Amino acid sequence: MSATTLFGTVLTAAVLVTAAGCGGEGGTTRTESPPTAPPTSAGAPPTPTSAQRPAEFTSKIENVSRSMLRYSWRPGCPVPLSSLRRIEMTYWGFDKKPHTGHLVVNAGSAGDLVKVFRRLYEQRYPIQRMEPVDVYKGSDFDSIEANNTSAFNCRQATGSGNWSQHAYGLAVDINPCQNPYVTASGYVAHKHCVKYRNRNLDHPALIKPGDKVVRAFASIGWNWGGTWSGTKDYQHFSSSGR
Ligand SMILES: [Zn+2]
Repeated sequence: MSATTLFGTVLTAAVLVTAAGCGGEGGTTRTESPPTAPPTSAGAPPTPTSAQRPAEFTSKIENVSRSMLRYSWRPGCPVPLSSLRRIEMTYWGFDKKPHTGHLVVNAGSAGDLVKVFRRLYEQRYPIQRMEPVDVYKGSDFDSIEANNTSAFNCRQATGSGNWSQHAYGLAVDINPCQNPYVTASGYVAHKHCVKYRNRNLDHPALIKPGDKVVRAFASIGWNWGGTWSGTKDYQHFSSSGR
């Protein structure tokens, strides 16, 4: 490949990245973009692209074992281990760098969820951390306290005796601090996240109606808890809408 061809490729990629950032998210649009070749370098040999571009998104879908889910799964849970998968994939961090995370989900939705997170990565939606709740010994509270993005947890729905959609691996909670669970009376359980009741704050992880996160999940038919009446669950996306 000639230097000219390669330079053209880099330019094309830069244009695509710029276009992807124009999603109309208002205040949440990020201004930084991956470094691109300076326009004056046409006569110079191109520098290696590996040093310029963040890592490509990669993903791997694996079976889960009992030892992987020591705390978050037990006999009597509504889905067997054989119906769950662990996705290993790239996510864009709060530090504006690529990271590898793990998300445990229902086997039937694993492929769709990879598509969603690929899209979020390419759009540079930042995620603080992505670890199975087993890292927090199955504690939803501790996982939220760490602002962890997670999916499967064999637990009951908050304030009810029914299984949560998380117990089926059919719900994902995204950056739960910037996107809190807010009761109808306005209560938020995590003290340092109370300020995010104000949905007009400008934080790149804060999910807003119709933004890139809502649209990415809508593309696989999943709905957002931010649209619930009364209680709002701004971190929550699920296949059933519950
Ligand atoms: Zn949830």
